[in-house]
Amino acid sequence: MAGVAFRNISKVYGKDVKAVNDLNLEIRDKEFMVLVGPSGCGKTTALRMIAGLEESTDGDIMIGEVRVNDVPPKDRDIAMVFQNYALYPHMNVYDNIAFGLRLRELKGIFWQLSHYGEAQKIKADIDARVRDVARMLDIEKYLNRRPKELSGGQRQRVALARAIVRKPKVFLMDEPLSNLDAKLRVQTRAELIQLHRKLGITTVYVTHDQVEAMTMGQRMAIMRDGVLQQCDEPEKVYAYPANKFVASFIGSPPMNFLEATIVQVGSKVYVDAGEFKLPLTEGHSAIQMVGKKVTLGIRPEEIDDANLATNIKPTEDNSISAKVDVLEPLGHEYVAYLNIGSLNLIATIDNETRIKEAQTAQFVINLDRIHIFDAETEVAIR
Ligand code: ATP
Repeated sequence: MAGVAFRNISKVYGKDVKAVNDLNLEIRDKEFMVLVGPSGCGKTTALRMIAGLEESTDGDIMIGEVRVNDVPPKDRDIAMVFQNYALYPHMNVYDNIAFGLRLRELKGIFWQLSHYGEAQKIKADIDARVRDVARMLDIEKYLNRRPKELSGGQRQRVALARAIVRKPKVFLMDEPLSNLDAKLRVQTRAELIQLHRKLGITTVYVTHDQVEAMTMGQRMAIMRDGVLQQCDEPEKVYAYPANKFVASFIGSPPMNFLEATIVQVGSKVYVDAGEFKLPLTEGHSAIQMVGKKVTLGIRPEEIDDANLATNIKPTEDNSISAKVDVLEPLGHEYVAYLNIGSLNLIATIDNETRIKEAQTAQFVINLDRIHIFDAETEVAIR
């Protein structure tokens, strides 16, 4: 087993496409790390550099204690699972899983008569491993089928089996679930988490889907334009996003952002969004910021119908009056599009609400969970 590290890694394509820019990231031994970010942020390039499919322009890639920049892909002891499965169409499932092992472990001795006994032993061992993995992934009954005779989900399991059977030091997965339908994605997501718990193999998983990143990653690394924005446990990234980009990328519906100024009224300091102002708690080195232009961030789930809010007592400080433009029912809750003068806010409200569309009602905001970002640098201010 081994961890993986990017040390000052950059990758430049051509003259000026900086796909990855000075990436420093340590993936711990046995960890499930998700690299996440919008299309083009450099996550696949980062993954391919671990695999050795892409050379870095600068910096060191470590697998365990070994600098692997000059180690060929086949000697890096990694296994990769791709979005498109990349199964051999002319081989059945058994052979697809066994193929890499045969190449690696028989190393040509199979056909040499003098090594017949040894080859038979290795073959038996490969057979046991293939059947073991097939059992683990519940694809035993398809071992004789060709890939085209399988569903997308089954194919993905074969691709996983082929990777697992090699018992690599590191798994690399590039959007492995994106070809599956929504239901199968959720199911396979859970299976992958369980598999990781069982095998404990260091895994680097690339996705653009923030829900996958939040639910699967023990930690997640969020990238933008080749630059690492934040790396932490999903709960911490959600609660303490490092900047406005991370705050907007994580969470659904996305965080509300309002242009605001820090003001002082009497002895209290407020973040003033124009139509309403909220008092700052001590955490925000408040006084020094008076006069500063900021962006106020409020997650939709931190705005509640004042009549329903059980954990927040409505006070003068945390209450706003807003007109409900649209209420979208999601079953367990509503997404409410609120209007306060020149401002618009999105809130998620419990389905017990009595509020109706076009009505003006009282809402409360959880003041402990508001976010403030520097208007210029977009970095979070705590
Ligand atoms: P996606 O989710 O769309 O796959 P990504 O985050 O994985 O995106 P990369 O594929 O790593 O992003 O690409 C990062 C940047 O590098 C992009 O701007 C892309 O256009 C560029 N890029 C990737 N591969 C090459 C290449 N072979 N030649 C030139 N530019 C490339």
